[in-house]
Amino acid sequence: MLLKVNEIEAKSILTKSGLPGSDWVINPYNGCQFACMYCYAAQIARWKHPDEEWGSYLDVKINAPELLKKELVKIGNKFKSRDFGTIFFSSVTDPYTGLEAKYNLTRQCLQVLADFGYEGNIGIQTKSPLVTKDIDVLQKLKNVSVGFTVTTLDDKVSRFIEVLAPPVSERIKALKQLHDSGVPTYVFVGPILPSFVKNEKDINELIDKLQEAGVKEVWFEHINLSTKIKDRLYEYLKKESPELIADFDSANTSKYREELDLKIHKALAGRGMKLGLDKVIYHHDLPKKLNNKLIQNK
Ligand code: SF4
Repeated sequence: MLLKVNEIEAKSILTKSGLPGSDWVINPYNGCQFACMYCYAAQIARWKHPDEEWGSYLDVKINAPELLKKELVKIGNKFKSRDFGTIFFSSVTDPYTGLEAKYNLTRQCLQVLADFGYEGNIGIQTKSPLVTKDIDVLQKLKNVSVGFTVTTLDDKVSRFIEVLAPPVSERIKALKQLHDSGVPTYVFVGPILPSFVKNEKDINELIDKLQEAGVKEVWFEHINLSTKIKDRLYEYLKKESPELIADFDSANTSKYREELDLKIHKALAGRGMKLGLDKVIYHHDLPKKLNNKLIQNK
């Protein structure tokens, strides 16, 4: 897919978040080169690019670090503490989308927060091992954690559904590298892919692998098949692998979700791992304000 890159000047960069577990969000880019087929941001972030295919454009907010510096000065010293809440990277892009290797905007924003002396929580969620280039900056931040989205252990499956994202095997290696460098990590298993993570064996294998990589916190989210996500995903499945549609359909019932919840709780029992929000997330059960803004990543 050809990528159209637009360098833009953003008007604000630290914005209020409605995402579960975060208070503020920083999006150094709008758009994402990874083009996952289940992406919620593909719908909510494309109002500026209604006719362009998700994954085919990237708005690069070249003034993001400078802007963040100004906004933090305006906010003032009293917000250096944890009371300020959690800052999340990112809600409508992957902060380590491919061109971060060139622009280093996420890195520079993290450096600005470190220079400011920010001691609140910072959460980073990505699918890219590119984040390991910033271990030196991450080590300067007091309360940072890096989350990887892991929806399968099979690189072929991740290539199929997370079309241009780095292979999941590379993500697991990066998790281990971060852990070994003293950077806290977590994993977001979302969406739980009905065709690939549906029995206890799959779930246990996945959690075993994450534990081996030093992960102590894991979030699970049921698949969101709201109309816009479903339209794009099913159009792709119809073309590429129509036999999977029945599995996705059958995952869209409360009975399926209840059974899967039990399997996940059973698989996590006795491992000493934390389950994010203490439950398997289902977007319909979240408060409306959060529901509207939740992305899988997330
Ligand atoms: S799900 Fe995340 S990584 Fe995938 S395309 Fe959307 S923003 Fe990018």
